[in-house]
Amino acid sequence: MESPQGGIPTPTELAAFRDAAGAWLAGHAQPRTGSDARDVEVAVFHDLGADEERTLLQRICDWQRTKFDAGYGALSWPADHGGAGLTPLHEEAFAELERQFDTPGQHELTSVSVALIAPTVQRFGTEAQRERLVRPLLRGDDLACQLFSEPAAGSDLAGVATRATRDGDAWVINGQKVWSSGAQFAGWGELIARTDPDVPKHRGLTAFLLPMDTPGVEVRPLRQMSGGSSFCEVFLEDVRIPDSLRLGEVGEGWRVALTTLGFERGHSGANADLGGGYRQLLATARRLGRTADPDVRRALAEVWVEERVAALAVLRDREDRFAGTEPGPVSSVRKLAWSEGMKSVSDAAALILGDRLVADSDEGVYQWTEHVLGAPGYRIAGGSDEIQRTIIGERLLGLPPEPRGDRDVPWKDIPR
Ligand SMILES: Cc1cc2nc3c(=O)[nH]c(=O)nc-3n(C[C@H](O)[C@H](O)[C@H](O)COP(=O)(O)OP(=O)(O)OC[C@H]3O[C@@H](n4cnc5c(N)ncnc54)[C@H](O)[C@@H]3O)c2cc1C
Repeated sequence: MESPQGGIPTPTELAAFRDAAGAWLAGHAQPRTGSDARDVEVAVFHDLGADEERTLLQRICDWQRTKFDAGYGALSWPADHGGAGLTPLHEEAFAELERQFDTPGQHELTSVSVALIAPTVQRFGTEAQRERLVRPLLRGDDLACQLFSEPAAGSDLAGVATRATRDGDAWVINGQKVWSSGAQFAGWGELIARTDPDVPKHRGLTAFLLPMDTPGVEVRPLRQMSGGSSFCEVFLEDVRIPDSLRLGEVGEGWRVALTTLGFERGHSGANADLGGGYRQLLATARRLGRTADPDVRRALAEVWVEERVAALAVLRDREDRFAGTEPGPVSSVRKLAWSEGMKSVSDAAALILGDRLVADSDEGVYQWTEHVLGAPGYRIAGGSDEIQRTIIGERLLGLPPEPRGDRDVPWKDIPR
C-alpha cells in the first residue's frame, strides 16, 4: 500500500500521533459521557430558529479554527494551504479520537465547505481563487454552499436552466436554485449555470464562485417536516459577477460539478455517526425495558450487522485509496448502504418506542422522532437511491443502459 501523500505511517508513528492528538483534545474539549439519545445527538437535521442556528454554526466554525490552527483541521491537505501534509490514516485516527469528546458537532454547511467546495476550488480554481478561498474554507472563516439543483433539474442535474450570459468581462445570471443546504448562512456559492444552450446538455455548462451578497441574489429558507430550515430556494435575477469568478473553463461546468459530487459521495462514509446507531438504540431500549422483546432484539441485531459491514467497507476503501485506486461507482454502493442503514436505525427506533414516537415529549424520545422525520432526506440528498441503483446497474453490473432520448440533442431542443 502506497500513500498518496508519500508513505504510510508506521504503527509507532501513528501511535505517537494518537497520543499527541489525544492529549491536545483533552486540553481543549470535555470527554463525552453516555450513549443514550439524551446525551448523543440522534436528530438528522437541526430544528433551530435562524439565530440559534447561526450561533451553532459559529461554535462549529470556532472549533474548526481551533483545530486548524493547532494543525488538526486539514490533516491530509498539503502544507501550502495550511494543511498538515499527513495521511488519511491520521485523519481517521483523529476523527476516532474526536468522537470521544464533546465538540459542537456537525453542520451540513461546514461539511459542504470543507469536504466538497474547498477541494473543488483547489482542483479547478485560479491561483487567486485558491488564495482567496481554500484556506478560509478549511479554517472555518468562510462558508460556501452548493448551488446545483433546480426545480426541474435534480437527478438530471445536467439539465439545469439557470442561464449565465457573457457581457464583456462579466457574466449576468438569471434563474432559480433549490435545496441549497445552508445558503442562508453562506458567504459563497458554487454555482452551475448554462452558458451555451445550443450544445448537448452536459457540454453547455460553466461553474462560478458566487458571492451570496451580490445584488440580485435572494435566499428564501424552506421549512422541512423535521422542523428546521436546512435548505433554501435561491433566486437569481440579473446577478452580475466578473469573469474572474468563473471556476474552470467555459463549458467545463459538468466536470467541475462531477468532481464536487464525487467528493460528496466519497464523504458519505465520513458521516457514519450522523443520526446515531446501535449504541444509542440499545441504550434507549434498555432505559425503556424493551430489550426482551424478540422483534426489538432482531431489529437491534440488524443494525449491529449493518454497522459491522459498513466498518469493513471503510477498511476496504481505505486499502483501495492507498493503492491509488479511485473509488468510482463503488461509492454509489456505499451511499446506498449508508442511506439504507439510516432507515434501519429509524425502523428500529420506531419499533422500540412504539406509540411514544409520536406522543412522548421526553428529550431522549423526541430526538428519535426527529431522526425518523429527517432520515428520508438522505435517501435523496447527493443523488437519490434510485439514481445510485442505476449507476450500480450500469457501471458495476454491466446491465443495459437506461434509454436516454436527449443524448447529442442541443439542450434548447430537449422537450420540457
Ligand atoms: C438533505 C438534502 C440536502 C440537499 N442539499 C443540496 C445542496 O446543498 N445543493 C444542491 O444543489 N442540491 C441539494 N439537494 C438536492 C438533491 O441533490 C436533489 O434533491 C436530488 O438530486 C434529487 O433531485 P430532485 O429533488 O429534483 O428529484 P427528481 O430528480 O425530480 O426525482 C424525483 C424522484 O424520481 C426519481 N427519479 C428521477 N430520475 C430517475 C431515473 N432516471 N430513474 C429512476 N428514478 C428516477 C428520483 O429517485 C426521485 O425519487 C439536497 C437534497 C436533500 C434531500
